[in-house]
Amino acid sequence: MHYALCAMPKRGAMIRPRFLQVLEAGERGEDLSTEDLALLLSTEDGEETEALFRTADRVRRKWVGDEVHLRGIVEFSNICIQNCLYCGLRKDNHRLRRYRMTEEEIVASVKEVMAQGLRTVVLQSGEDSWFTLERLSSLIRRIKEETGLAITLSVGERSEADYRAWKESGADRYLLKQETSSADLFARLRPGRTLRERLDALKVLLTLGYEVGSGNMVGLPGQREEDLIRDIQLFREANFDMIGIGPFIPHPQTPLAGSSPGELQLTLKVLAVTRLVTRDTNLPATTASGVLDPEGRERALLAGANVIMPDMTPQKYREHYEIYPGKTKPAEGLDSIARLISSLSRKISPSPGFRRPPATSARNRLPG
Ligand code: SAM
Ligand code: SF4
Repeated sequence: MHYALCAMPKRGAMIRPRFLQVLEAGERGEDLSTEDLALLLSTEDGEETEALFRTADRVRRKWVGDEVHLRGIVEFSNICIQNCLYCGLRKDNHRLRRYRMTEEEIVASVKEVMAQGLRTVVLQSGEDSWFTLERLSSLIRRIKEETGLAITLSVGERSEADYRAWKESGADRYLLKQETSSADLFARLRPGRTLRERLDALKVLLTLGYEVGSGNMVGLPGQREEDLIRDIQLFREANFDMIGIGPFIPHPQTPLAGSSPGELQLTLKVLAVTRLVTRDTNLPATTASGVLDPEGRERALLAGANVIMPDMTPQKYREHYEIYPGKTKPAEGLDSIARLISSLSRKISPSPGFRRPPATSARNRLPG
């Protein structure tokens, strides 16, 4: 079903006047208060929710256009020293078969990303200390020289010296989700780590001139609506270049096995409100949204998203990168992604999709 083609409810017919006012203010780019954000997020009304999604879709079109950026992701190691309660890669999950791709395998996968016509590769892993400053620097230099692709790193929290060396070696972007902006929830879900350290790392990455991606999970056990509002306010204040918003999906081999998954509809509302308040950021239609619901990514593309991250990890490894169940199924292939994009009258971006020339932006408005 193409939601863009849904019969438009009569404007304001069923929608509360205050809801409509807030939507219109958001579309004009006015600052929305905490109460305004709560009003948008808490609606349970179908007409209001569809109006929110359509408004986010218009804001997306106005600020980032109809192009969808494809970022090929290569999950090169599932070894992790952390023990995040939500993640199947956590170090205490002894039932997971661990792997670490060799340099040749990683470079071959990145070349496949290039051969498929994509202009960005995302190198993602657990926090795997085998990849030292030197080893990852030399890999980044080699990938840059041999492919010229834009390189995004998503390898967790590391030292400032590592971030700096990798930037100097040619990395362009860094993904490090805040996960949640509730300090209590963060400390509970990532034992031994703090939200303060995470935000400090994001600050360093912004200062070093990376394009920085953050994001959150929606529906974490114990997460409250006010935590989601704070997430959105943080996205706005920090002026991140990319923000990944995905539902939490419980993994059976983690302490959160018995928890309920996040809801797609709430995830899409957080995405849509984030589009309203951040305007020109890159917002992926996350893989987790597609796992929760076969139409999840399509619906995200119609609620403000403009990025898809196809999984380009070799199949023999992909099945072991099980962050959450359903994640490791065989890749659907770029053809079906291309069909989805054109069915929405959108097009695949031919560019690497930088938000703005890197290292020129005056930013860093993270608290603290
Ligand atoms: N180790 C790096 C890190 O934590 O930043 C990168 C890899 S980590 C697997 C990538 C992302 O997976 C995390 O930022 C988190 O948001 C997401 N994730 C982990 N477990 C998840 C779950 N059960 N449901 C949904 N997303 C999950
Ligand atoms: Fe490791 Fe990242 Fe998973 Fe946490 S989320 S256990 S750091 S891979």
